[in-house]
Amino acid sequence: MTTIKLHNTRTRTKEDFVPIDPDNVRMYVCGPTVYDRAHLGNARPVVVFDVLYRLLRYAYGPDHVTYVRNFTDVDDKINATALARKRAGAEGSLEQLVQERSNETIGWYLHDMGALGAMEPNAMPRATEYIAQMIAMIEDLIAKGHAYAAVGHVLFAVDSWKNHYGALSGRSVDDMIAGARVEVAPYKKNPMDFVLWKPSTDELPGWDSPWGRGRPGWHIECSAMADDLLWKQPLAVGALSEQALQHPHVIDIHGGGNDLMFPHHENEIAQSCCANEQDVFANYWLHNEMLQVEGKKMSKSLGNFFTVHDLLEQGVPGEIIRFVFLQTHYRKPMDWTEKKAREAEATLRKWRALTADIEPAVTAAPAVVDALADDLNTAGAIAELHRFAAGGDAAGLLAGARLLGLLTDELAGWAETGAIDLSSYADRLADARAVAMQSKDFSEVDRLKAAYVAAGLEVRMSKDGIELVPVAGFDAAKLGCV
Ligand SMILES: [Zn+2]
Repeated sequence: MTTIKLHNTRTRTKEDFVPIDPDNVRMYVCGPTVYDRAHLGNARPVVVFDVLYRLLRYAYGPDHVTYVRNFTDVDDKINATALARKRAGAEGSLEQLVQERSNETIGWYLHDMGALGAMEPNAMPRATEYIAQMIAMIEDLIAKGHAYAAVGHVLFAVDSWKNHYGALSGRSVDDMIAGARVEVAPYKKNPMDFVLWKPSTDELPGWDSPWGRGRPGWHIECSAMADDLLWKQPLAVGALSEQALQHPHVIDIHGGGNDLMFPHHENEIAQSCCANEQDVFANYWLHNEMLQVEGKKMSKSLGNFFTVHDLLEQGVPGEIIRFVFLQTHYRKPMDWTEKKAREAEATLRKWRALTADIEPAVTAAPAVVDALADDLNTAGAIAELHRFAAGGDAAGLLAGARLLGLLTDELAGWAETGAIDLSSYADRLADARAVAMQSKDFSEVDRLKAAYVAAGLEVRMSKDGIELVPVAGFDAAKLGCV
C-alpha cells in the first residue's frame, strides 16, 4: 500500500494520510457558485483535487473513494441574471429562470472541467436540493444553543464555540474582529456571528422555514451536504464499516482554495462540530494556492481576466492547461504564462507522438507514484515523466502520465497531425539529401528544412533517416506551399 503524505492545514504539518476506513475514503471539496463561466483560477482546485482523487483511487481502489463536490446555486448573481432576463421579456417564472441560469452554468462548468481532464466526482449536489437538510441542521444548532433567530435571520453564535473558532486559519475571535471587515448589524450578538438563514424579498427565490420565507446562508450548505452524502445516507443503507461508525459524522478530507479558509471553512467547521457535538469535522484539510496571470493577479480591471472557455476557444487544448497547472505544486502560487503554455504544447506533442499506438505499462512507475504521494508533488512526477521520455520508455511514460490524468484517450485528438502524412515530407527531404550528397549542392535541402521548421516541425536528420516531429504551433497548412 502506498503511504500518502498530505499537508494538513489543521495541524500545519505534512502527515501520513490514514483514512478512517480504507475501504471507503471520503472527500469533500467546495465547488463553484454557478453564476457564470468558470475563470482560469476556478479551475485550479478542480485539477488539484482531481489528481488527489486519482491518487486515492490508485492507492485504495477506484470503488473505495467517495468524492463529493457541491454546486452553489443559491446566489445573488444568479438571481440578478434571471431577473434581468425576466425584465427583458423572457418566458417563465423567476424561479424557472433562476434554475435555467444555474443549469446552463453547470453545463458549461462540467464541459470546461471535462476538457481539462477532470473526472466527475461521485456526487455533485446542488444547494437547492438540500434546503430541508440545511433547515434541520439550523434548527439543531438553535436547540443546542449555538445559533439564534433575530429579525428573520438566524445567526451562528461564535461565542458558543469561542475556544475553537478560528483554529483552522490560526486566528482568535478577538483578532478576527479587529482585522476583518465584518458586517455590523444591530441584531448580531457578536459582530463575527455569521448568517445561517436570511429573509428573501418577494421578488427573489425563497423557501418556507420556521423563521419565515427566506434562503440559507452560503456556509451551511457544505456542512449539510457533506454530512448527508458522506455520513447520513451511507449510514441509512448500512454502507459504513465498524471503523467509520467509531467516528460519527467525521470525513477524511476536506479541500478547497485557500481563499475559502476564512471565513467559509471556519464556519463549516463551527456548524458541523456544534451540530454533531464533536471537535473534528474533517481529519485532513487541504488548500490550494491561488493563480496569477503573467505574474499579476487576474482581474477584469487589468484586462488579464479570462475563462477556461476563452482559452479553449482560442485553441489552447485542455490538456495543455492541465499540464501547465501541474508543473507548479498546489501549495505554491501558480503563474499562468503564454510561454509555459507553448512549452507544454511542445512537450505534450512529443510525448503523444512517442506514445502513439503504445500500450501503457501495467502499473505506474514507483518514482511517479512516490512523487505524487509526497503531498501531490506533481512537478516531481512530471520530472520523472521527462526521464521516461528521454530514455525512450514510452510504456512507462504513458502509465505515469495517466496517473496524472495526462496522455489519456479523453484528452487526445488535439495533437494529431490530421490528414497530413509526414512520411512523404520526410522522404522528400531524404531524396534531396541523397542528391545533394552527390552534387554537393545543399540549397534544396536547406530550403526544405527551413520550410518544415517554419511550419512547426522539428527536423531530426541522422544516418538512419529523417524524422519530422510536430512542435508547438505546428500548422499543417503551411506545408502545402513547400
Ligand atoms: Zn464549502
